[in-house]
Amino acid sequence: VRELTCELPQEVDDALRARAARTGEDVSRIVARALADWLQVGHSTVFQASTAGALMEGVAGGAVTVADLLRHGDLGLGTFAAWDGELVVVDGTAYRVGGDGVAPAPDDAETPFALVTRFVADHQVQLEHVETVAELHAALDDLRGTENEFLAARIDGPLERLHTRAVCRSGVTTPLAVAAESQTEFEVSDTEATMVGFWTPPHLRSLGITGWHLHAVTRDRATGGHVFDCRGGPLSVRVQHLADFRLSIPETAAFLHADLTADRSRALDAIEHPRS
Ligand SMILES: [Zn+2]
Repeated sequence: VRELTCELPQEVDDALRARAARTGEDVSRIVARALADWLQVGHSTVFQASTAGALMEGVAGGAVTVADLLRHGDLGLGTFAAWDGELVVVDGTAYRVGGDGVAPAPDDAETPFALVTRFVADHQVQLEHVETVAELHAALDDLRGTENEFLAARIDGPLERLHTRAVCRSGVTTPLAVAAESQTEFEVSDTEATMVGFWTPPHLRSLGITGWHLHAVTRDRATGGHVFDCRGGPLSVRVQHLADFRLSIPETAAFLHADLTADRSRALDAIEHPRS
């Protein structure tokens, strides 16, 4: 343990002492935890912008920028404001996958919903072959151990078949179910790809897209999107348990005034995990 002396603005010092007085924790523990959180060390956090329930209600305007999102992680997925394509974050680069192909997303592009983490794998296995995405999910389930916390996953390797979709630009108030009606689907054969994504616990069904949710980019960065199905191998599979969940609530009029009380989880599941 090292001792740190630093200068603080009066208002930060006041807030720190008020927190210590309220919780009974000592000041240096609060500072150490806040720094660990800010610097993303010592624990694994998943950062999520907005909620799946809000997407279902058509709260699809920008909540955070790509630059902000990348401050919270180097692996992740999401979509863009007004449903302008699928977002895939691999090795700290955010890509936009649209009907017109794959390109790095500009820093000022905005997302209405995304999840990212700083990926450090806890477990790694090699899968010789998967016939379907359901088989891949089952292999990921074997590494999961629990339904009730987040996991991040990264899968790399050759695929004989990759079936994805990308949503297409519509409006900032278009519900996901309507946006999904005009999605573009892609079928690629014999490619190398990276798939990244998350297990969101079923008990968070109003907040997240529960279950496994994977987005892909091909190694040649020609295509990708939200993964519907895949076949191939051998695949390198890595997962990370994420015990901390940070939800950023968009302070936009659209979000703050939306009625988010309905349970849309079944309709959401049908869109995100169509049975094929
Ligand atoms: Zn998706």
